[in-house]
Amino acid sequence: MSDDIGSLDEGASPVEKFREFLVTKRQRLTREREIIVEEVFSSHEHFEPDDLIDRLSNRHDSRRVSRSSVYRTLALMEEAGLLRKVARPNGREVYEHDYGYPQHDHLICDQCGMLIEFHNEEIASIVERIASEHAFLRKSHRLEVYGTCADCRRPKQRRPRKLDLI
Ligand SMILES: [Zn+2]
Ligand SMILES: [Zn+2]
Repeated sequence: MSDDIGSLDEGASPVEKFREFLVTKRQRLTREREIIVEEVFSSHEHFEPDDLIDRLSNRHDSRRVSRSSVYRTLALMEEAGLLRKVARPNGREVYEHDYGYPQHDHLICDQCGMLIEFHNEEIASIVERIASEHAFLRKSHRLEVYGTCADCRRPKQRRPRKLDLI
């Protein structure tokens, strides 16, 4: 679902970036945390912590990873700027990469929760212009458009199963 956005190489790997962040918090990058970062960045998917726990349980080296440290590590990764949360209309939040991945916005279906990613230069430059009109130093922006996706707008009858559901 995000093929059209491509990826961006920012130099330092997510693991390196996380290690640097942890140093500022006087914490160590344990093997457990490293495994979690690797797994998170092995694919660009929106995920809930439970999805990640499932993926980790399929790794041969996952026995070292406890559920509580997944939650703690995700919160730290968010603080480090590696991940961000996207709210879904059902009140549940999903994580997505916020590092090494281009700026983009979301269309969010309030029926099925599907997230569609898009990037638009015009929006980016409008935001930039508005910020500069207010002498505001823009760091990033977030645009979430809520509505109904094409599948959910189709008349109800044998809808194809959407794999990207919650
Ligand atoms: Zn939908
Ligand atoms: Zn996204």
